[in-house]
Amino acid sequence: MSKEVRVRFAPSPTGDLHVGNIRTALFDWAYARHTGGKFIFRIEDTDRERVTDQYIQGAIDTMKWLGLDWDEGPEVGGPHGPYLQSQRLDIYAKWAQTFLDQKDAYYCFCTPEELEALREEQKKANQAPGYNGKCRNLTLEQQTEFKNQGRSAVIRMRMPEGETKFVDVIRGEVSFDHKFVPDFVLVRADGSPLYTLAVAVDDVLMKVTHVLRGEDLLSSTPRQIRVYQAMGVQEEDYPVFAHLPFVMGKDNAKLSKRNGEVSVSWYRAQGYLPESICNYLALLGWSPGDDKENISMQELVNLFTVDRVHASPARFDPKKLDALNADKIRALSSEEFLERSWNYIVEQNLIENNQGNKEIIASLLPIIQERIVTLNEIPAMANFLFVEQVEIEEESKEMMSKVETKEILQAALNQIKPLNTWDKENLENVLRGELIENRGLKPRIAFAPIRIAVTGSHISPPLFESMVLLGKDRCISRISKSL
Ligand code: GLU
Repeated sequence: MSKEVRVRFAPSPTGDLHVGNIRTALFDWAYARHTGGKFIFRIEDTDRERVTDQYIQGAIDTMKWLGLDWDEGPEVGGPHGPYLQSQRLDIYAKWAQTFLDQKDAYYCFCTPEELEALREEQKKANQAPGYNGKCRNLTLEQQTEFKNQGRSAVIRMRMPEGETKFVDVIRGEVSFDHKFVPDFVLVRADGSPLYTLAVAVDDVLMKVTHVLRGEDLLSSTPRQIRVYQAMGVQEEDYPVFAHLPFVMGKDNAKLSKRNGEVSVSWYRAQGYLPESICNYLALLGWSPGDDKENISMQELVNLFTVDRVHASPARFDPKKLDALNADKIRALSSEEFLERSWNYIVEQNLIENNQGNKEIIASLLPIIQERIVTLNEIPAMANFLFVEQVEIEEESKEMMSKVETKEILQAALNQIKPLNTWDKENLENVLRGELIENRGLKPRIAFAPIRIAVTGSHISPPLFESMVLLGKDRCISRISKSL
């Protein structure tokens, strides 16, 4: 029987999760679901100054919103918990002590100033930077002497000569000469563990079989492998590594969380559907195998294999995300579109939550479903239905001051006033008949003033349908007022 696949997503939330993090989470999740394995969600929060409770909660919410459910992790627990590293400090301390006892690690008493001076020297001599092993073989007396001088010690891992080789599923065989992987710190002088220690210990204890993560962590892998070795893990039991390509921004620079628009919460607030974000991110570095780009979460799960992940960087293209989101909105059933739009509006506090308002939105949605790219367009498009009179927007005022505008509005008023049945066909018949056929106007010229008078904006839902929704009295009153 082959081993159960266990994949983990292990962010250090020092801010909102950004699209790069979520691309990793998505691939981890899709791989676990594709193989029928387990998806583990672990919070790497040993740096409690930068990783706050609020960011951790934000990460959990974002994962839930995206539908990336986990089998082990925060809120659900699991057999290898806790899944917050800050609650596992005793475990790291115990392993660090074991490494000291085994002489895989040693106390290093070098001060930050000494290390800085070493770096300077190495720079001058054109040598690779890194610890020179000065404290590797201190005797107990020398250690006591340093302690008496008031020095504190970090715990450092001994990196033997040689190299670390491993196969990365995306990149092929990778090797690191240890000349460039100096002895590294496991535990700070204050006793807190470093990432390399915590991540490797947890991957072993949580029986992780596959490490799919960002390419930026590739160079940390030989150090983690060194920790596995010190823990007595055999080479055949190392996890499989797959380092995902970088996600680049428009300017070809790596996307970073400093840029607000890479945060997933930002996309959520803008009214992107979670499945659009997942679908789009899935295409960053992976392809479903044919030209099809619009895929469902289930299709992603069915199709996701690591051999379809590319090694070259992927570029984040907001236009493509927009196109996918518009497609997915169009494909929703009307009930779903209403539910999701209304939930979004309420969640983002855009319109007061009551039945009457929901009904107004429900009446509008059918005529805008084909037209919107993101849900945040709905409130502006609905505004004309909520107010008694509309304010004409600034950009439309010039058009409304043209001479022919008055004639058009007067003619429209004359046509619509006598209508007994207020529906799309009648409105379209009389208005087209008079303005386009009789007066020979171009539709754009003819209908813009009516549109602006009725909705306040030259960009609005389809005109005749909007007039039907608004009702005869309000249409007449608005056109008359514009005149
Ligand atoms: N916690 C690390 C980070 O957020 C990632 C750990 C890993 O995937 O190995 O960068």
